[in-house]
Amino acid sequence: MAETHNHNHGECIESALATAEALCKNQGQKLTKVRRRSLELIWQSHRPLGAYQLLAKLAEEGFNSAPPTVYRALDFLLSAGLIHKVESMNAYLGCAHADKAHKGYFLICDACHNVMELEYQDIHTSLLAKAKQHGFEIRANTIELTGLCAACLEQENSADQLQDKAN
Ligand SMILES: [Zn+2]
Ligand SMILES: [Zn+2]
Ligand SMILES: [Zn+2]
Repeated sequence: MAETHNHNHGECIESALATAEALCKNQGQKLTKVRRRSLELIWQSHRPLGAYQLLAKLAEEGFNSAPPTVYRALDFLLSAGLIHKVESMNAYLGCAHADKAHKGYFLICDACHNVMELEYQDIHTSLLAKAKQHGFEIRANTIELTGLCAACLEQENSADQLQDKAN
């Protein structure tokens, strides 16, 4: 599980790009410049990036940033499993385990908007089984849960303590 704060994020980006290149090579796909740069921009942080933010950044860098180009790049990255769409934020998140088949389970921090992905396939398996008992077939690919991440919780707790001292 990737932490969202206090880690060497350069390593996250590096390993995501390496995975993307290997994956594309295996599938005989091309990681074109705009696809690669889009992936890199989405990976700038663990905060999902909206299509329009991506578009603006690509335009700044002189890419052909016409919406169809950008949406095609996003579609490619999505179908290759290199990114996920976080529906509730209408934004895109890099996937740290693109080389394994999985569904996306997201923990979304309400305070810093970082998103952590859980990779436990067994959650999915047990949900499918439970739903099936009720004759229900789950078709969603993602589950999004909101709350506070460890770093924001810590901040909240220390703010509470200061408040207590002041009182
Ligand atoms: Zn990181
Ligand atoms: Zn993923
Ligand atoms: Zn947070």
